[in-house]
Amino acid sequence: MRLLQQLQPYIFPPACPTCKKVHVTRAINTKPANINLAEQYDCCADCLQNIHLAQISTCYHCGITLPESLAPGPCGHCLTQPPPQQHTRNVFVYRDTVRTALLAWKLQGQSTGLHWLLQSSTPTLQQIFSPNDLLIPVPMPLSRMRRSGLHHSADLCQRIAQITSSQVCHTLLRRTGNHTRQSSLKGKQRLSNLRKAFMLTNDYQTQLDKYNVQGKIWVVDDILTTGATLRHACKVMKKTQHPIFAFALARTPSNT
Ligand SMILES: [Zn+2]
Ligand SMILES: [Zn+2]
Repeated sequence: MRLLQQLQPYIFPPACPTCKKVHVTRAINTKPANINLAEQYDCCADCLQNIHLAQISTCYHCGITLPESLAPGPCGHCLTQPPPQQHTRNVFVYRDTVRTALLAWKLQGQSTGLHWLLQSSTPTLQQIFSPNDLLIPVPMPLSRMRRSGLHHSADLCQRIAQITSSQVCHTLLRRTGNHTRQSSLKGKQRLSNLRKAFMLTNDYQTQLDKYNVQGKIWVVDDILTTGATLRHACKVMKKTQHPIFAFALARTPSNT
């Protein structure tokens, strides 16, 4: 059995979980900080070097990057218009390896890269989320869910919960009837589309009582672009009278 294990890399050479290239030389000492040492060996050196971690000098409230001297904010925008969420966290910047992995998951249903990214970020995720926390996926319009066959933020919540032992509730926050895709809209249109996009279920208080949340309530999305979607979802969640926190696994480089 041991011999078989030793021979395995030669019979089945390891493939990189994000670019899928078979590689014999494994990545050593090229990892970005916070990538779990035990997991780094699965990833090829090129992909590993192109993982960009979200900067820590960000506005505490909305998560945008600030000059180090101004962090943790609030940024100018949050100073004049404080967001509904208390705090926004991201793990990665949405580019290169992370973008490839997330697109494979979202467009082709291939989750190997995402799984690897989450596993390798276990210490960071366990530092952000506690077993007492409740995760609320940003709900997706039903029409889009039918098209893609997967509710991405709900899937992400389940995967995070497996790592952090947090609870997940899919039924508290709902999407209303407006099905226009956010990415197909611009500026003001986008905002007015979002303004009425979310609602709480009628029995939200009963549901919350059932979960008996002792920790934080997080609204969770996969990718943060302008932050508007998370902000509106958090605004609706604030009606629960709980402090609300926001999380997106990656944020686009335009916010860095
Ligand atoms: Zn690779
Ligand atoms: Zn801010």
